[in-house]
Amino acid sequence: MTTKHFDYFVIGAGSGGVRSARIAASHGAKVGVAESGALGGTCVNLGCVPKKLMAYAADYHAHFEDSHGFGWDIAQAPTFKWETLIQNKNTEISRLNTIYKKLLDGSNVEIINGFARFISPDAVEINGERITADKFLIAVGGTPRIPSVKGGDLMITSDDIFHWKNPPRRAVILGGGYIAVEFAHILHGLGVHVTLLYRGELFMRGFDRDIREGLAEEMRKQGIDLRFNCDVKQVEKNGDRYSIHTTTEDIIECDLPLAAIGRDPKTSGLGLEAAGVECATNDQIINNAHYQTSTPHIYALGDVANQHNLTPVAIQEGHVLADRLFGGLSDREVNYQNIATAVFSAPPLSTVGLTEDQARARGYEIDIYKSGFKPMKHTLSGRNERTLMKLIVDRDTDKVLGIHMMGLDAPEIMQGFAIALNCGATKTDFDRTMAMHPTSAEEFVTMRTPETS
Ligand code: FAD
Repeated sequence: MTTKHFDYFVIGAGSGGVRSARIAASHGAKVGVAESGALGGTCVNLGCVPKKLMAYAADYHAHFEDSHGFGWDIAQAPTFKWETLIQNKNTEISRLNTIYKKLLDGSNVEIINGFARFISPDAVEINGERITADKFLIAVGGTPRIPSVKGGDLMITSDDIFHWKNPPRRAVILGGGYIAVEFAHILHGLGVHVTLLYRGELFMRGFDRDIREGLAEEMRKQGIDLRFNCDVKQVEKNGDRYSIHTTTEDIIECDLPLAAIGRDPKTSGLGLEAAGVECATNDQIINNAHYQTSTPHIYALGDVANQHNLTPVAIQEGHVLADRLFGGLSDREVNYQNIATAVFSAPPLSTVGLTEDQARARGYEIDIYKSGFKPMKHTLSGRNERTLMKLIVDRDTDKVLGIHMMGLDAPEIMQGFAIALNCGATKTDFDRTMAMHPTSAEEFVTMRTPETS
C-alpha cells in the first residue's frame, strides 16, 4: 500500500470541504481532498442548484397563466418536456463540477477520487492507498432517510428525482419539511398531480405558524392535495405503478413516490471507530465549538454535524476552521445569529430571526405587526394568491426579533433584512426607513399598528 502525507486532509468535496481545503491551501498548507461522488457535493449535484433550476421550470407554469391578464395571448398552450429540463440541468451541473475542479487545482489542492475510510486515527484508506495527515476534516454531508415501513425502500428520494427518466403523472410526497414542500411545488408546476402526506398537524415545523398556515392554504388553492395527520403504512410496486397505503386507510396510486422525511449524517463505512471519533445516537458526529471531534486532530462540520444543514453555514464553518488552523486567525468565529432561510415553494417563504412562538417561549413581551394582501401583480393576473408579512418586535428594547414572509420574491427580499437584524435594528429604524414604492417589501417599513398590544 502506497502512502501519502498531507498537512490537512479533507474528506468530502462538498460545500464545507471545498472551501476549507482551498482556504487552508491559500495559507500554505499541503492539502488533499477525497471525493467519492461528484465535486461540489450535495448543494451542486443533488440539492440547492438542481432544485432551484427545477423550481424555475415549475414557476413558468404560473407565469404563462398570469400573462393573459396583462394582454399576452399565447396562441398554443405551452407544453413541457421533462427530458429537456433534466438534460439542460445536467449540462449546467457538469459545468459547475468543472469549475470546482479548476478551483481546487488552482489552489494546489490534490483531489483523490474515491471513498475514504479511517483505518486508524492518523490514516485513511482510499482505493488501496494509505493517506496520513496532521489534521483531518470530515465534511461528508448527509444522505436521505428511507421510511421504515413495509416497502418503504421502494420510495425514491430527492437524490433520485434529479435523474428520474420518465415524466411523472401522479406523485405522492411523504414529508413536511422544506424539501417535501419544494418538490410539491416543482412537480405540481410541471403538471404532475401531487399528494403530500405529513404525519404532523401542520407542515413546515420551525417556521412561523401564520406562514405555515398561509402556505397550506395557498397550496390547496392550487390543487395540491395536502393531507396532514397522515403517514405511509405500506408501499407496493406493480410495474411502474406504486400503491401507497396510508395510516388513514387510503390507498393512493402514483408513478412517483417521493420520501422527503429528513436526512442522516453520512457516516456509514467511514471507519469512525478506528479513528476514535464519537457520534450521537443518530450518527451525527459530535464536535465542539471549534469543530473538533473526540479525536482532537480530526474535525467535523457541515451536515455531518447535523446542526443547521445549509450550504452557506457549511462554507463559513469550513472557511473559519481553515483560518484558525492554518492562517493564525484564532479569533475567527462563525456567526450563527439570525440565519435567514428560504423555501422555494409557490409562493416562496423566507424567514430570519425568531418566530412568534419562539419569542414567547423565550419570555419576550412582544408586539406583532402583520400584513396580508394581494400583491399588485395579481390584480391583473387574476391569480388568487395572497402575500403575508410579519414582524416580531421586543416591546422592551424595540428590537426586531423576527421577520417572516410568504410571497413573491420573499427570499430575495429577506437577505437584506437579515443584515438589519444582525445590526440589531429596531422597529423605529424600520419606521424611519423610506419605503421603496411600488414593492411588496415596502410593507416591512410601513406597518404601523401592532396586532396584539
Ligand atoms: P455535502 O455538500 O453533502 O458534501 C459532502 C461530500 O462528501 C459529498 O460530495 C459526498 O459525495 C462526499 N463523501 C461522503 N462520504 C465520503 C467518503 N467517505 N469519502 C469521500 N467522499 C465522501 N442548502 C441551502 O443552503 N439552500 C438550499 O436551497 C438547499 N436546498 C437543498 C435541497 C436538497 C434537495 C438537499 C438534499 C439539500 C439542500 N440544501 C440546501 C442543503 C445543502 O445542500 C447542505 O447543507 C450542504 O450541501 C452541506 O454541505 P457539506 O459540506 O456538509 O456536505
